[in-house]
Amino acid sequence: MNSPDRDLQGYLDQLIDDLRDQDDGEPNPLPVHANADLSRFAIAVVDTDGNVTASGDAEFAFPIQSMSKAFVYALAIECLGLAEVNRYIDVEPSGEAFNRIALDPGSNRPANAMINAGAITAHSLVTGPDAEHRVDRILALLSRMAGRDLAVNEDCFSQEMEDAHRNLAIAHMLKTVSELPDEPHGVVTGYTRQCAIEASTIEYARMGATLANRGVVPGTEDRCLAEEHVRHVLGVMLTCGMYDSAGDWVSTVGLPAKSGIGGGIIGVVPGRCGIAVHSPRLDQHGNSVRGILAFERMSEDLGLHVLR
Ligand code: GLU
Repeated sequence: MNSPDRDLQGYLDQLIDDLRDQDDGEPNPLPVHANADLSRFAIAVVDTDGNVTASGDAEFAFPIQSMSKAFVYALAIECLGLAEVNRYIDVEPSGEAFNRIALDPGSNRPANAMINAGAITAHSLVTGPDAEHRVDRILALLSRMAGRDLAVNEDCFSQEMEDAHRNLAIAHMLKTVSELPDEPHGVVTGYTRQCAIEASTIEYARMGATLANRGVVPGTEDRCLAEEHVRHVLGVMLTCGMYDSAGDWVSTVGLPAKSGIGGGIIGVVPGRCGIAVHSPRLDQHGNSVRGILAFERMSEDLGLHVLR
């Protein structure tokens, strides 16, 4: 690990201290999240040279959940090209709950790849003969960005599969009216495994930093995504990444980002760094309460808003 920036280190330590008493919100009810230590709090910043600055429980690993959607969308585009992926998934903010069982009425496409209908479609577009191979490809990409071999949290996967009716309904809807390229159960199994991949806050920041570094893993020569694909994905993250509070997020924080129900948020400061925050208590939109507060403070104090 490269050495931390001392000023930034002090700033992150202070931010964790300032927000640690904030205990609004509830964790996601899935046992793996609900039974987690709710006091956990971490912030990590990885810059485009690979320098890591982190505070709190930043080495604790937790499921990626919906944060995976941004990277799997990027991988689908790598596999098939943007024009082909656009045929399946639109790029419009939906303003609807992330797990809404509906498609755009005109085009029969999911509104974007950050909601479940679009993310399940994106998962199915990762080329490979079956769910297992698709998950292997996704694991390989995320592991390259994280800098170590990641794995699926099997408890998280089996708990979520027990009650995957909503995602199965979405997949069956996709199969009926659009062109889901595999059978619904296999796709939802693979998608649920994708969501159960675990990494630490530092590793999530490194994934964000790879997007900030236009597709090259920071501190390496490893290009894992094409620059023009990264730019497209960052645009969708900026406008659609924060569930149904994306508009509020753009006005207050102003960074491409993706959150997950495990309490993680990955933000990207293009050309500068990736930032990840973890705290399990969620607001009514499904975003980490402390995570939102931390990003609002960082955006203001460090001048991170992309329209600054
Ligand atoms: N696996 C979860 C689902 O698809 C992810 C939800 C999320 O993090 O927003 O319902």
